[in-house]
Amino acid sequence: MTTELQSQAEQLGTVVMGGTFDPIHHGHLRSAVDILDYFQFKSLRLIPCYQPVHKGEPTVSAEQRLHMVQLGITGDPRLTVDAREILRAGPSYSIDTLIELREELGPNEPLIMVVGMDSFLSLPTWGRWQELLDVAHILVISRPGWEPDLISTLAAFYEKHRAESPAELQCAPSGKIWMESFTPLAISSSQVRNLCRKQASIAYLVPETIQRFIEAHSLYK
Ligand code: ATP
Repeated sequence: MTTELQSQAEQLGTVVMGGTFDPIHHGHLRSAVDILDYFQFKSLRLIPCYQPVHKGEPTVSAEQRLHMVQLGITGDPRLTVDAREILRAGPSYSIDTLIELREELGPNEPLIMVVGMDSFLSLPTWGRWQELLDVAHILVISRPGWEPDLISTLAAFYEKHRAESPAELQCAPSGKIWMESFTPLAISSSQVRNLCRKQASIAYLVPETIQRFIEAHSLYK
């Protein structure tokens, strides 16, 4: 992960990672920290959705998922949480969130949406997906078990918009896609929920504070 990016001063740019976070786990958190270190961004915002558009209803309330994200980010002051989708309620369309952020940031600030490879592969099923690059860049991070086998529509979209280097995400406000591999952690929220259901340990998959919160509130039983 040694690139010219690491030798530059702290970079401008707003980085967001959306998700259901049902619950947040070390796969999310380590990826976020890897991104911050690699790009030298000041901060990364985690945006828990209210109602996911591409998955079933979350198992626990939006407030509990938000609380677990807040517990999860305490280990790194560069991580922040943005509750806008929960406050907005209704189906959480990423395009709505990115347009809102773009209005707040103004036209020039780079805005980077982080998605795992599994989410990227499903992009053509997202609402108004082709408009995402009008307002943001997309940073695709690898995820164990998911290969970049893009269906033709997505492959064409990727070829048209792929950046030549990661630095391009910081040189323009929007419009580029970059794929990057970081610490491979085969952890998923479904795995955590399944383990809880079986009354097995979730230690080392989620931060201890979250493990305690899940146990104290008997979540995912
Ligand atoms: P579930 O198992 O319930 O489907 P999940 O583990 O995929 O949940 P989400 O909250 O849906 O978690 O994921 C939010 C974002 O983080 C998505 O873009 C997803 O691809 C990415 N992500 C989740 N887990 C990892 C991981 N272990 N490594 C890299 N990216 C991840």
